[in-house]
Amino acid sequence: SKTPIRVAVTGAAGNIGYALLFRIASGQMFGPDQPVALNLIEIEPGMAALKGVAMELDDCAFPLLTEIVQTSDLAVGFKDVDWALLVGSVPRKQGMERADLLGINGKVFVGQGKAINDNAKPSVRVVVVGNPCNTNCLIAMKSAPDIPDNQFFAMTRLDENRAKTQLAQKAGVSVKEVSELCVWGNHSPTMFPDFYNAKIGRLKATAVITDESWLQDTFVPVVGQRGKAIIEARGASSAASAANAVVDTVRDLCTPTRGDFHSVCVISSGEYGSPAGLITSMPIKVDAIGKWRVVEGISLTDYAKEKIAASNQELLDEREMAFAQLGLS
Ligand code: NDP
Repeated sequence: SKTPIRVAVTGAAGNIGYALLFRIASGQMFGPDQPVALNLIEIEPGMAALKGVAMELDDCAFPLLTEIVQTSDLAVGFKDVDWALLVGSVPRKQGMERADLLGINGKVFVGQGKAINDNAKPSVRVVVVGNPCNTNCLIAMKSAPDIPDNQFFAMTRLDENRAKTQLAQKAGVSVKEVSELCVWGNHSPTMFPDFYNAKIGRLKATAVITDESWLQDTFVPVVGQRGKAIIEARGASSAASAANAVVDTVRDLCTPTRGDFHSVCVISSGEYGSPAGLITSMPIKVDAIGKWRVVEGISLTDYAKEKIAASNQELLDEREMAFAQLGLS
């Protein structure tokens, strides 16, 4: 039988964690014949709730779940893991400046990066969900010098999934008809869902949805503000769809791409004018041996270039604020 894949999840007793862990343990992330071991990481105040989550995982009697580790010790939590899903982060509180948040979370991700560096498998892959996820990911990457930079990712798949559904609903087609929808830049309201290159069936999305002002002035902000709209409607943030996007992200990073590409924040080497060294969202394909690369040959309109440049500028600003506070360079 197969060796279990060991997956660490931080913020494991949080809302996203509660929607995520059961899907990992049921086989939806790594497949129906792949055993998994879960290393659940929480801060001390979350440990009691975490115990309850672990009890529920036990009570699912998942055949694929071989072990549950519950810990607030990062060295234990990241020991020998194949994947580190960094979901927990400190939420922005009233009166807190963006720079403060970057500094506070920055410290958390320095600690996690170091612990991953020293304890995880050298082949570990790290997916950051906790916000500001791009900059948190960059900080973890910098703090884990022994782990190759191309093993660090931050999540924009939920933005891609949201964007695809908006286009499908507008066009009156099934969401599976929408492809090649790349979200570019920072996972923040500045990210750009590139409708110009998206396809609906075999047609360009802009040939099906010909109202360009709807695309620019309604579609883009609706996707950017979707998280806020869900909080207003549900009274709580979008945990299940965020967890679903984590499952999609990891599954597609493990699977050679057939057909459509997907959006993931990865280390930039300057592709499409994005500043090298940033963790920014780009279209990714995975080859037969499991190596990812940025899709080449996409042509961007001037409007798209401007939007992407603005989002990458926000990332440069975040990096400067965070690195100044953390003494990183
Ligand atoms: P959630 O599980 O709802 O969210 C976790 C993180 O995911 C937040 O940073 C949130 O960002 C982010 N996120 C990314 N995409 C989305 C999305 N589409 N919708 C919602 N959130 C998204 O938070 P909880 O507060 O329920 O749980 C967090 C857990 O993390 C707690 O159990 C806490 O104990 C733990 N924690 C761990 C820390 C650590 O490891 N040192 C530090 C602080 C908390 P945003 O805030 O922008 O919504």
